[in-house]
Amino acid sequence: MSKTKSSSLGYPRIGKEREWKRSLESFWSGKTTIDHFQKEQKQLRLSYLNTQKTLGIDYIPVGDFSYYDHVLDTAVAFGLVPSRFEYEGGQVSDETYFAIARGTDSAVAAEMTKWYNTNYHYIVPELNAREPKLVDNRWLRLYEEAKSELGIDGKPVLLGPISFVQLAKQYGEKDFSQHVASLVPLYVEVFNQLAEAGATLIQVDEPGLAGDVSEEVWTVLERVYQTFAQAAPKANVLLQTYFESVSDYDRLIKLPVSGFGLDFVHGKEDVVNNIKKQGFPAGKILAAGIIDGRNIWRKDLTKAYADLETITEFVEADRLIVQPSCSLLHVPVSVEVESTLPKVLKEAIAFANEKLTEVVTLANVKNSEIDANILIESKQAIERLDQSESRNNKAVQKELAVSKTEDTSRGIDAQTRYEKQTKKLQLPLLPTTTIGSFPQTKEVRKKRLDWRKERISNSEYEEFIQDEMDRWIAIQEDIGLDVLVHGEFERTDMVEFFGEKLGGFQFTANGWVQSYGSRCVKPPVIYGDVHFKEAMTVKETVYAQSKTTKPVKGMLTGPVTIYNWSFPRTDVSEADVVNQIALALKKEVLALEENGIGVIQVDEPALREGLPLKRAKWDAYLNQSVIGFQLTVNHVQPETQIHTHMCYSDFQDIIEAIDALDADVISIEMSRSHGELISSFEDFTYDKGIGLGVYDIHSPRVPAQEEMERNIERALQVLDQRLFWVNPDCGLKTRQEPETVEALKVMVQAANKVRQQIEVNK
Ligand code: GLN
Ligand code: ZN
Repeated sequence: MSKTKSSSLGYPRIGKEREWKRSLESFWSGKTTIDHFQKEQKQLRLSYLNTQKTLGIDYIPVGDFSYYDHVLDTAVAFGLVPSRFEYEGGQVSDETYFAIARGTDSAVAAEMTKWYNTNYHYIVPELNAREPKLVDNRWLRLYEEAKSELGIDGKPVLLGPISFVQLAKQYGEKDFSQHVASLVPLYVEVFNQLAEAGATLIQVDEPGLAGDVSEEVWTVLERVYQTFAQAAPKANVLLQTYFESVSDYDRLIKLPVSGFGLDFVHGKEDVVNNIKKQGFPAGKILAAGIIDGRNIWRKDLTKAYADLETITEFVEADRLIVQPSCSLLHVPVSVEVESTLPKVLKEAIAFANEKLTEVVTLANVKNSEIDANILIESKQAIERLDQSESRNNKAVQKELAVSKTEDTSRGIDAQTRYEKQTKKLQLPLLPTTTIGSFPQTKEVRKKRLDWRKERISNSEYEEFIQDEMDRWIAIQEDIGLDVLVHGEFERTDMVEFFGEKLGGFQFTANGWVQSYGSRCVKPPVIYGDVHFKEAMTVKETVYAQSKTTKPVKGMLTGPVTIYNWSFPRTDVSEADVVNQIALALKKEVLALEENGIGVIQVDEPALREGLPLKRAKWDAYLNQSVIGFQLTVNHVQPETQIHTHMCYSDFQDIIEAIDALDADVISIEMSRSHGELISSFEDFTYDKGIGLGVYDIHSPRVPAQEEMERNIERALQVLDQRLFWVNPDCGLKTRQEPETVEALKVMVQAANKVRQQIEVNK
């Protein structure tokens, strides 16, 4: 009988109650032995397989589970241990594995960076040290384990060679194609062993095909997959892409593999158009990712089913697989445990388990195993949320509509603003400041917890925060900084803090997702129309300002960052959600201004990382981001100085958008690429205030004064001295107090020294 199958591309590692994280951390801290740790991990791994089986998934992934990261898993399976770690060949030990991921006293950890456009971070492989060799066919090992322990005929999941090399640091003599070529025989070996062992389908992930793919990469890819077909003829390779539509569909479907996994959510129009125009090759499997693996919302299954019907016109039912659009690594495990969410919201949410149920339901209806009526339930649940008050806030919607016709610029040029602000704020040349937060000591965190647990009263907590502010205003005055901050002691997290105070947000009890290693984050859910309820930062800022005659900066997180670090609603456009946040924040900005705060910083550290995978989509994203930022700040007086802060290094790409934000002052993190960043200003004249971090806050090291002076002087070679600010390169939240005070003192002295030199040379 021809049957449509259901599949999963990958399952969250962290566990319903983050038991995976606990197991790892207890092993790292030496509380559990390696044997115990391995046993615990195996139990978890098997229980995840079992869950997926119980939910009714046909193709259950094996090999996606990890002790830390799947890119690192791939690297060590091929013996690619960076040369600074001890390694004598053979299967890489767990100790070495964790040493690469986390570093040791004598060797720094491998670099970590974002996995495509997600908030997951992977360990960057280093392709210089050794010739790759298959030292552990982990996929075979895990395939056999699932089979013998649970009777599950799993679907091994591998990261494909093209994407693997793209994601790696490619040093040395070899070029891209040579690095790939050295891996090909190893993949062939893995495939042959898996086919031999009985694996019916092997998922090979090539997310790299979904961005902008060069001719060179396509040529290498074609050669590689031809080799696979010839050298491992019995292996059924399913070439899987996700996060966007594939860059060249026509070329993709000609590859000699058993089937293709495509994302029918992100870049859906492209993929549907392509199938309609080009068809789908006969005899091949189509794994259709029609359930969004990235968002947390239940899917209207009547719509998903209609998509499925469209797809069925081009592929036989028994060659069709229904699945999420990508691995479920990016969503929490199950909504079941969320007992405090409002019912109407909870019923419209789908985390990993619920998404797999959706997949299975669709396949079952397709196979006429259950009645199609069941699809309507999801539609109704979504409609109930859509019709709820939270999504029908007339006031917000009206403001949003008005904002669309508005000129979002400041309405007065930067030069004139500069003059007015300089006069009002009376700042010296090379003004000194910090990025916002001061050390969040154990005591600060403990007090906050006590307050949250209602062990101390509101007033007791407030007093504590005030004492911290008093202390730090005095410290800053003593150091001699020019623009002070209140220190952000009342905030745990820069997005959570605002999410808790704005309308339209909800917090889950257990909606954690893996960020990197054992570190998990719990993004707030933007479920309704976002609105301002009450002032969020005015009290603390005004208090701090009352303690000094120097200007104190108001500190807000910007709309793009709040959006990018949340689970946003998807029933309205991204632009609308960002702009709603912006309009709510605008009220905060105006409230600060009204209360005498003359400098306001709107942080956008996540702006760069939200860039779409395809360059063709960059402009729309950047324009939208600029509008969101401007809506937040554009109504202030010309005398009010607007700052922003961003943390990243690759920013040459978006320098024009940064300029377009039209902030009076921007501070940029630059510790990791000082030279590059500075040279990007050789070609681009930046004519507003700018602070390129003069020391790296990511380490406790206190740099020498000369070093900071050099950094300032170097920047002044390409930037106007009238516009340059002196500041550390990011917030100081994670540092200790002594080194922070010390480093800031040195920084102020360095600024003084350079000021004097400028005077002398006049
Ligand atoms: N104002 C924030 C702080 O200082 C900025 C943090 C960030 O850039 N991620 O902590
Ligand atoms: Zn930063």
